[in-house]
Amino acid sequence: MIELKNVSKWYGPVQVLNNCSTSIKKGEVVVVCGPSGSGKSTLIKTINALEPFQQGEIFVDGIAVHGKDTNLPKLRSRVGMVFQHFELFPHLSVTENLTIAQQKVLGRSEEEAHAHGLKYLERVGLMAHKDKFPGQLSGGQQQRVAIARALSMDPIVMLFDEPTSALDPEMVGEVLDVMVDLANEGMTMMCVTHEMGFARKVGSRVIFMDVGGKILEDCSKDEFFNHPENRQPRTKEFLNKIL
Ligand code: ADP
Ligand code: MG
Repeated sequence: MIELKNVSKWYGPVQVLNNCSTSIKKGEVVVVCGPSGSGKSTLIKTINALEPFQQGEIFVDGIAVHGKDTNLPKLRSRVGMVFQHFELFPHLSVTENLTIAQQKVLGRSEEEAHAHGLKYLERVGLMAHKDKFPGQLSGGQQQRVAIARALSMDPIVMLFDEPTSALDPEMVGEVLDVMVDLANEGMTMMCVTHEMGFARKVGSRVIFMDVGGKILEDCSKDEFFNHPENRQPRTKEFLNKIL
């Protein structure tokens, strides 16, 4: 579903992705963790072409992200992205947030976009809030709307960048529950998160990145959590701090 081959990126002289290669199969849930500044956000943003890169290749469902003729709006519409800070449109109602891209990017009619968007709003348990504005919702509710909005585009893969790290602790669970359901339904997912409970529950693989943008570990969940003897010293040090 997703393939990265030797991807490198620099900001000026500073290398932020160092020869990153991995692939994600349909239905896999890949958890990306690692210290701040190790390039986790940059890595997942390259996948829907929000971040350009200088070397390497990325394919999403066979489409070359780096290709000169790639239709980026179309590619992005197939790759759902959920950010740390929700990024809902503050001046639009929840329903409008759910429908605008469906209409503008996918060309759906208002009725069609409504029906589709509200189906996902129901799924994240927020139907009662459909006419509210983002500012009237809690952080956890806003993030669930952001997930419903991404799902409304019928993505083939969902990318999450620390979706719970800006939330008050009591709201983390409601967002993780939605993500666990999605994973159990077979959605292909790449999640930057330090919620190791989530990784243990539904993760297929864990990628650990280290400063300098290097993928230091890319292994099964079982290998990552149950075989510390095979982990790099940096990984163990990191896990000791967060577990
Ligand atoms: P992470 O998500 O793992 O915390 P990021 O992908 O956000 O890491 O950042 C990786 C590195 O790239 C960091 O050293 C950061 O300072 C640098 N960086 C990120 N965005 C920019 C930018 N727009 N210009 C220059 N450096 C950047
Ligand atoms: Mg980040």
